[in-house]
Amino acid sequence: MSEPTPRIVTCPTCGTAVKWTQGNAYRPFCSERCKLIDFGAWIDEEHKIAGNSVEDDLLSGQLDEG
Ligand SMILES: [Zn+2]
Repeated sequence: MSEPTPRIVTCPTCGTAVKWTQGNAYRPFCSERCKLIDFGAWIDEEHKIAGNSVEDDLLSGQLDEG
């Protein structure tokens, strides 16, 4: 018997190819770090509303370049 080829997914945080296996507890993320970053992204949005104009300006500049 040969093992089935694991499905490859892309980490939503960093774009790394990740094997979708039962051994990967962080799927579809490549690591715990990327999972936490993604979960924290919307929390950061809440914090920015609370008031951090400097960081908001930096992020806006990055978006304009895209
Ligand atoms: Zn990642």
